[in-house]
Amino acid sequence: MSGPLVLLVLGGTGDARALARRLAADPRFQASVSLAGAVERPDAYALPVRTGGFGGAQGLARFLKETGVAGLVDATHPFAARISANAVAAAEEAGVPLLRLERPPWRSSSGDDWREVDDLDAAAAALPQGARPFLAVGRKEIARFAGRSDLDCLMRMIDPPGQDVPLPGGRLVLARPSDDVDTEAALLESHGTTHVVAKNSGGRWGAAKLVAARRLGLPVIMLRRPEPGMAGAGAGERVEDVAAAMAWLELLAGRAASA
Ligand code: NAP
Repeated sequence: MSGPLVLLVLGGTGDARALARRLAADPRFQASVSLAGAVERPDAYALPVRTGGFGGAQGLARFLKETGVAGLVDATHPFAARISANAVAAAEEAGVPLLRLERPPWRSSSGDDWREVDDLDAAAAALPQGARPFLAVGRKEIARFAGRSDLDCLMRMIDPPGQDVPLPGGRLVLARPSDDVDTEAALLESHGTTHVVAKNSGGRWGAAKLVAARRLGLPVIMLRRPEPGMAGAGAGERVEDVAAAMAWLELLAGRAASA
């Protein structure tokens, strides 16, 4: 083989951004990133970015073949189950090696009061009458709490919600999550928060709110990750961090160079 290895990184996470920085600096790879287009102003990537869905697994398989992708990295969010399942099917169809980069879930530690639930309905049911929850979940997911008129919610979003998104009553803050525990604790206190509702995303990003909840003695209603089958686990190889992803990609590049 001659020339760099063509890679596609399915992104939308901090890990994908960190991997993009490493790949951009490595001449063995010619990589680009794909984003869903869910956020109006996504964080900058060190690689070329394409935006928007592919049209299901078939569309992604076609894209892989047409653009000569020789390695696919699924670095999407642990709760983005559909695109991960599509990546598994498309990689198989196109005969492209697939790597899943998924950070480990957070684990509760001493001083935490976590109540783990499987879905949003169970999260809503776990909130007592008149609670003042911080809903640390996405826009579409927040809409699932709109039926609880007794709640006074604190909601944080990166982009303003569309007119068509029903929201529960409460206060809306337009901001990205902070990784500073004091900032997160001050936000929770300013609302008189009684509960934190969060998804078990794992990783550095978003962990500060959990430390703040522990500090303030607040219960956390924690959504477990989707079942591995739904997230496309079991196919392709899996790593938990960017260093391990780079090691896998270096092996792939080495094999392609000597083929
Ligand atoms: P999803 O339910 O798994 O995907 C829905 C559809 O969006 C997919 O079928 C695909 O459309 C398109 N899509 C998703 N990720 C894509 C990507 N990286 N590049 C191109 N198309 C993509 O995903 P989601 O939960 O809506 O999340 C959307 C994006 O936001 C993901 O990339 C994820 O990494 C990021 N994100 C999600 C969460 C979360 O909690 N779910 C949190 C932070 C960031 P087609 O079928 O048409 O290809």
